[in-house]
Amino acid sequence: MKKVLFAFILVLTIALLAGTCFAETYTGSGIGRNGEVKVDVIFEDNGTIADIAIAESSETPAIAAYAVERIPSLIMEHQTLNVDAVSGATFTSNAIKNAVKDAMKQAGLDPENYQEPIVYTGEEKSLDADIVIVGAGGSGLSAAIEAAGAGKNVLLVESNAYAGGATLYCGGMVMYAPTAEEAAEFGSLDAESLHQGMKENASPEFFNDALNMDYLNHSLENLQWLKGFYDGDDLVDSHDPGYVPLSSENGVASHTLAITVRPKAEGEEPLVNTWIVDSLVKAARNAGAEFLLETTADQLLTDANGKVCGIHASDRYGNTYTITAKKVILATGGFGSNYSLLKEHTDMERPFYLGPTSNKGWGIEAGESVGAKTGYANLPDLPGYDSMVYGTVGGLIVNEKAEVLDKNDAAIDNLYAVGELTCVQVLDTVHFSAGENSSWNLYSGRIAGAEAAQAIQ
Ligand SMILES: Cc1cc2nc3c(=O)[nH]c(=O)nc-3n(C[C@H](O)[C@H](O)[C@H](O)COP(=O)(O)OP(=O)(O)OC[C@H]3O[C@@H](n4cnc5c(N)ncnc54)[C@H](O)[C@@H]3O)c2cc1C
Repeated sequence: MKKVLFAFILVLTIALLAGTCFAETYTGSGIGRNGEVKVDVIFEDNGTIADIAIAESSETPAIAAYAVERIPSLIMEHQTLNVDAVSGATFTSNAIKNAVKDAMKQAGLDPENYQEPIVYTGEEKSLDADIVIVGAGGSGLSAAIEAAGAGKNVLLVESNAYAGGATLYCGGMVMYAPTAEEAAEFGSLDAESLHQGMKENASPEFFNDALNMDYLNHSLENLQWLKGFYDGDDLVDSHDPGYVPLSSENGVASHTLAITVRPKAEGEEPLVNTWIVDSLVKAARNAGAEFLLETTADQLLTDANGKVCGIHASDRYGNTYTITAKKVILATGGFGSNYSLLKEHTDMERPFYLGPTSNKGWGIEAGESVGAKTGYANLPDLPGYDSMVYGTVGGLIVNEKAEVLDKNDAAIDNLYAVGELTCVQVLDTVHFSAGENSSWNLYSGRIAGAEAAQAIQ
């Protein structure tokens, strides 16, 4: 009897073991934008990747969030390391992939066996909107808030997997034209002298006095508009001298007055100031604007009369989009990630752009395709900035309604441009080099959104 029982237990044990899957966890590591990213990966005994969890990361949350969610799920779903990086979060995406690869090697698995490409089957889609905005950075979001707030059907098309563009990298310092009293109190230039100083450092061919003065005169109102979208009550203003003086006479630097606005920080202040983008995104969504993310505009569409009537775009999953719209607002930011254009418009030996890789200056190309006038200023290499580029100076020329102008200074029908793409006529090279331009980006976005909405019957 004992023998029978022993045999029965043995058979049962073997059967259970045969059906059991052994799973083990390995911790791999990869290098991201801000340092090491560690992931815990669970492999089943047949080599299946069963789970990937981020164990440690100091990547910037607003930028890395989508990659942190998307890359592990793609790797697991397709059992491959051959997944494309999330646009705008390439460093984080690669860090996660390398960390999984590292864990694989520790588990005795060969990463070469996990390289099957993912095949996406795309569709041709047609969409329609009153206003299509290309670029969901600070200027595009501001345009969307105004246009959707005016009851228009607004679609934002954005290359990256998240909204924000370079605005997400912004330290939160906004240039500000102080009153005479504030100028005296803080020892800075007042609005009029700030205007004159900017003019001296601007590109004389393109600087637009009226537009610059209008912008400066609205700088406080613009800041209040932005702050109005923030949920909390812990925003703190600090009045700082602008990063760089406009001029230095008799050894005394003539500073702009900038305001750095950020939520009250516990401990060390964060480098990037995501509250601006978070607040704008929420306000744009609340106003009814829709987002098409991970989608890159590649062509401006014109009708039989040559009038702008929409855009063509494509996404990374093979889908293409023909988007017809009554008005198009170009809000594609600067051209810092277009190295040849950047090099052409700076004295710097090896300029290095600190903003997103998606900012390649497509808006300029789009404008030129319908006859727009362009202008550039030369970006100086400021002492202490080590050829690091915070913003680029050049792009499309617009009027006070943010309409794009052609070579005869006539407005091109249905086409608006905003933000860094249009800065050359308002900001000077000093402020540009120092990255003090987001207040113009927001303000110009607001103008375009309101004007485009109003121009639609
Ligand atoms: C590191 C850094 C720090 C900075 N700090 C400050 C600061 O403290 N204060 C300040 O005032 N300014 C600062 N700046 C400058 C400021 O952030 C930018 O000038 C501003 O964000 C530009 O706003 P924008 O809306 O014009 O462009 P962005 O915010 O760059 O938005 C443009 C958007 O267009 C998208 N896009 C581009 N091409 C396409 C296409 N073909 N199809 C679809 N989408 C497209 C991009 O992905 C991007 O999201 C800083 C810049 C950097 C890089």
